[in-house]
Amino acid sequence: MSTARARIEELRTLIRVHAHRYYILDDPDVSDAEYDSLVKELQALEDSNPDLVTPDSPTQRVGAPISDLFSSIQHLRPLFSLDNAESREDLDGWEQRMERQLDSPPVSYVCELKIDGLAVVLIYRDGVLDTGATRGDGTTGEDVTSNLRTIQSIPLRLLGDDHPDVLEVRGEVYMPYEAFDELNRLQVEEGKPMFANARNAAAGSVRQKDPAATARRNLDVWVYQLGFVEGGPEFETHWETLDYMQSLGFRTNPASLSMGTIDEVFEYVEKAERGRHDMPYQTDGVVIKANSLVDQAQLGFTAKAPRWAIAYKFPPEEQVTTLEDISINIGRSGAATPFAVLEPVVVGGATVSLATLHNQDQVALKDVRIGDQVIVRRAGDVIPEVVGPVVSARTGKEKKWTMPEKCPFCDNPIVRLEGEAVARCTGGFECSSRVREWLFHFSGRGGMDIEHMGYRTIDLLLAESLISDPADIFSFDVDQLLDYQGWGEISVNNLKAAIDAAKERPVARLLTALGIRHVGGTVARKLVRVFGGIPVLMDATEEEIAETEGIGPVIAEEVRSWSTDPVNRKLVEKLGAAGVRLVDEVEDDVISDLLAGGVFVMSGTVEGFTREEAKMAIEARGGKATGSVSGRTSALVVGESPGASKSRKAEELDVPIIDAQGFRELLEQGLSTLG
Ligand code: NAD
Repeated sequence: MSTARARIEELRTLIRVHAHRYYILDDPDVSDAEYDSLVKELQALEDSNPDLVTPDSPTQRVGAPISDLFSSIQHLRPLFSLDNAESREDLDGWEQRMERQLDSPPVSYVCELKIDGLAVVLIYRDGVLDTGATRGDGTTGEDVTSNLRTIQSIPLRLLGDDHPDVLEVRGEVYMPYEAFDELNRLQVEEGKPMFANARNAAAGSVRQKDPAATARRNLDVWVYQLGFVEGGPEFETHWETLDYMQSLGFRTNPASLSMGTIDEVFEYVEKAERGRHDMPYQTDGVVIKANSLVDQAQLGFTAKAPRWAIAYKFPPEEQVTTLEDISINIGRSGAATPFAVLEPVVVGGATVSLATLHNQDQVALKDVRIGDQVIVRRAGDVIPEVVGPVVSARTGKEKKWTMPEKCPFCDNPIVRLEGEAVARCTGGFECSSRVREWLFHFSGRGGMDIEHMGYRTIDLLLAESLISDPADIFSFDVDQLLDYQGWGEISVNNLKAAIDAAKERPVARLLTALGIRHVGGTVARKLVRVFGGIPVLMDATEEEIAETEGIGPVIAEEVRSWSTDPVNRKLVEKLGAAGVRLVDEVEDDVISDLLAGGVFVMSGTVEGFTREEAKMAIEARGGKATGSVSGRTSALVVGESPGASKSRKAEELDVPIIDAQGFRELLEQGLSTLG
């Protein structure tokens, strides 16, 4: 028993410290998953030792004490937390508990996205915003009225003339990702630490001393709960209250849906989880509410949460683990990028053992040290990253990291030049990491697009000394791979076919693949159009290159210095000898002006074209390909797996939408096909 008592005390202290950092300082130093596991452990210990439960235990109340930065506001009705579910079984258990109390399960449910921001309570008297407060400890919140008044989507006066005497609504103030990225960009620019996530940024922004500072943060709000109405209409369902709030001018989330069964609820949850990274704001789950207000009244509340609602939490995208080491990678331009070597941890549905640390300055700014416990985030397809250290877990044995003076791959010095943002390895192509990245870039989608030539193949070819530069890809004996594990007739033939196909790529692609600084697809196409091919370009003077339309002296200098390097001259010679096309045939130049004056946007991949090829086909006919739909767009070309937002925009602006077939007709017959 005494061990349980000691652990309970310890857990309470830990939870209090973390809650303070999270709710008051907006600067948590453990992941939500870790915090939740402490709370869960405490809850379990208290459940089996009920006599040790005290009224001040963190399990007995909502949120955290309010800070003294703001005056306090006593809520008219207490605010609650939400019970959590993590699985279909948890949802079934919840439904069964309600069924026991109501004698039958609720007739319908409302599913809403759980927005990851800061809960606020807005009180309107006679239709005018009177006060706005944070949730605080559930009974008392902080008075942030002046700050909330700066958020454009919070009505200062309700729509219409028929207003209740008193109206209380609850909602979530959040920061859209776009605003969050911009804020972090500014933080970095000003040498300040980045915000760990959009929730902390939103909470910190609402709790600013100066409302003008809040106003600059581009916050928004979704309103999701009618607290109560005095002197106004009465309702039967939660769904009706959402409609009502919308009619008064509040922003209610369009993703909310009403449905009849837990099966449908679970489908909604799964769909929301799959789509969470396509949303322009952070969500961390789905809140499910019994729709009938009579049912809600009968179900009532536990000490902390309503029995008629539950929050289905998505799996955590942040975890804490040990930073075992910091290593560096050398990119194809020689840039040295630090990355974290981690004790493997499951996060965002995958095991992560390496994560990016972005750059040398971020390591210093975040003060990440080797041996630290660090918060790791993996969200969707984004590369796992180290958010920051858990400072409170330090033992004093952690070691600060500095950029090594010598390259771990080639032993040449690593140097950071004045005014440069990154340090670079000076080993040139002696550096094996640089060569590996160079080959990867050359073969990759942005370069020659050679299928099956990923890191795995490149590593094998380098280790066996079968290739050492991009030209070797076209001349080595692919059949030798049959001797290696994992390679059979089919895979060897596939690779051969991919290499052969790459020999015939338009020259602009080869020029891009060669990786000259500042020479991406557009610049490469311009150069090839003027010089026809790489040999002529390599003999052109800096002045001649700079005369090309849209090419300035900086690019001209880079191209020239690349061209005069004997290593590169030799490489191009080797590529030519291996049968790679170095000069474009005439038809790759502007072949007509069928699309002159036309501006096109692609969404998804159009059958028969890579993105780059579709763009080139448009440009070869005098048209322009751009990235976003506007009033000037002539047509949106929709291929496979298109994004929804471009189509929506095109429909709004009455821009013609064409499919792959329409695109082919457009290329053959010109703008007249658009009607
Ligand atoms: P909760 O996650 O249990 O859910 C309740 C909150 O959900 C409400 O207050 C409201 O703000 C929000 N919400 C969003 N959309 C909603 C909707 N449509 N309907 C109703 N409510 C909606 O919130 P909580 O009680 O604030 O907190 C616990 C969370 O905070 C946990 O995830 C916990 O991990 C995290 N936390 C983390 C730390 C840390 O140190 N990392 C410390 C404290 C708390």
